[in-house]
Amino acid sequence: MHPLSTINNPLFEELSQQYGTPLYVYDGGIVRRQVHNLQAAFQGVDMHIKYACKANTNLALMRLMRSLGVEVDVVSMGEMHMALLAGYSPRQITFTPSGVPFGEVREAVEAGATVNVDSLPLLEWFGQTYGSSKPCLIRLKPNVAAGGNFKIMTGHSDSKFGISVDLLDEILEIVKRYDLKIIGLHQHTGSDIKEAEAFLQAAEVIFKAALRFPDLQIIDLGGGFKVAYKPEDAVTDMQHLGQEITKGFQEFCKNYGRELQLWFEPGKYLVSECGYLLVRATVIKEDPARTFVHVDSGLNHLIRPMMYGAYHHILNVSNPEGVPHTYNVVGYICETDTFATDRTLPEVRPGDLLAFLNAGAYGFTMSSHYNARYRPAEVLIDEGKATLVRRRDTLDDLLRSQLDLA
Ligand SMILES: *Cc1c(COP(=O)(O)O)cnc(C)c1O
Repeated sequence: MHPLSTINNPLFEELSQQYGTPLYVYDGGIVRRQVHNLQAAFQGVDMHIKYACKANTNLALMRLMRSLGVEVDVVSMGEMHMALLAGYSPRQITFTPSGVPFGEVREAVEAGATVNVDSLPLLEWFGQTYGSSKPCLIRLKPNVAAGGNFKIMTGHSDSKFGISVDLLDEILEIVKRYDLKIIGLHQHTGSDIKEAEAFLQAAEVIFKAALRFPDLQIIDLGGGFKVAYKPEDAVTDMQHLGQEITKGFQEFCKNYGRELQLWFEPGKYLVSECGYLLVRATVIKEDPARTFVHVDSGLNHLIRPMMYGAYHHILNVSNPEGVPHTYNVVGYICETDTFATDRTLPEVRPGDLLAFLNAGAYGFTMSSHYNARYRPAEVLIDEGKATLVRRRDTLDDLLRSQLDLA
């Protein structure tokens, strides 16, 4: 078994034989471990985890989250319906929209979810529509640059997300005018943040702003904790981060005069490492310039390498002891869909089974039918049992919404 993998090669082979490739496989034990680590790091405060389910909306995974005491953050009504189907009650659901039509916010409020208001016009609408009758949170933009790369930073001053803290006076004016009940302040600074300092820096901005809102019950510091992608990777030291943030938060609560709830909205941290995308090498193309390994998948199933330049570690499950060669690992889509460039792997032969690691977050949920290809099946392994939790698409799934079927 590879140090970064939690599933051994015979089991990968067995699952690929049984369910075919490409195949998403999730290890529920890793979800349990991550939830536990986060809970353990924040013993001293009233901490709530709101799983950012856009990372992975498989209902079986969401049910597992719920069974572990994890609540949920949704960004659309589609996700809201999935959360309800997974057994969440509306009070456990937070809706964090990003410039959505106000009708969607109305639907979410009427369904009973708590809303993070992300713009002044929405705050104004919220005031006109609900006045003091519905509480809400405000998503602030702390103007702090943090995260793995610019595409996944959301808290810097040029980011589209949230209301700039520089507009605090305007926010307070609207709150006062409509007697709005602001029960929380929210921020989500970005993804792949490994330093406690970056979190704390953004948190300090929120803590300062919070002193001007007398009715708060919640401080929501968003998600973005970094996980390991490579064996040598620096990851968020959750124990250290927990201690540092707990210290800062307790101090803030003392200043504020009351104990508040501390919320986090992790996506990647909870599910990235639990997931594997299993694919088979189709064609090995020995080009004069380099050697390409084509696999039976592409950016239609895992777009992160092309979209963010994300690194996914790759294992050659079928030939782990093979002589190392350097490859470009590419997909079968008619579009450049490179998974890895100049990657050294044990020799890959046609038909070899490969496993992409860190495929649990933003893998399946970002998949598409591009090139009219089927999306993979999903298997959840939990408590020693592997269960098919989504079947592979069929032609029907591609045609379902087309109306001109002669
Ligand atoms: C995407 C998102 C998250 C989760 O980010 P991760 O990097 O996956 O932890 C949390 N909160 C909000 C509002 C988001 O949009």
